[in-house]
Amino acid sequence: MPRTPTALALAALLALPAASAHVHGLALLDVALDGGRLQLDLEATAHDLVGFERAPRDEAEKARLEAARRALLDHARLWQFNVAAGCVAEAPVLEVPGTPEGGPAKAHAHGHGHEHGDGQAQEKTHGDWRVRYRFQCRNPEALRAIDTGLFAAFPAIESVRVQLIDASGARAASLGPAQPRLVLRP
Ligand SMILES: [Zn+2]
Repeated sequence: MPRTPTALALAALLALPAASAHVHGLALLDVALDGGRLQLDLEATAHDLVGFERAPRDEAEKARLEAARRALLDHARLWQFNVAAGCVAEAPVLEVPGTPEGGPAKAHAHGHGHEHGDGQAQEKTHGDWRVRYRFQCRNPEALRAIDTGLFAAFPAIESVRVQLIDASGARAASLGPAQPRLVLRP
């Protein structure tokens, strides 16, 4: 099958390094819709997901880590589509820094409340969790919007910066607790 312009644009987009800025309260979401394939790549800080960015110190913190993990893997709670689009989920893939899924722990020597947003080079992986969600939609033309339960599940996330790419090109959007709907097509 020949590669479509969308597939090429998508490949170019995925080849770019993640625009990871590590800003507390801000999550990043890449949305790619190519035919019936929908991929959502979410990146959020551990601060926003569990409330700390280091190894858990006690059972309560371990439990918070587990709860965040479970909530992130609960794609049906986090992402809702028009039923008519017939989107079926594959198992999400979660990367947590400092765990077997996320590779070796990165040393993280600085405290918080400073330098976030501009320390990209040295702090690239620190504290950021990544999740990839994939769906196969039987009727992608019926897919008009994506509603997210992210803000309800993780109240520390104040906004989500979205990069969207689909058949009509690439565009940016912003979501927040008052605007949890990503409109794909009016
Ligand atoms: Zn942080």
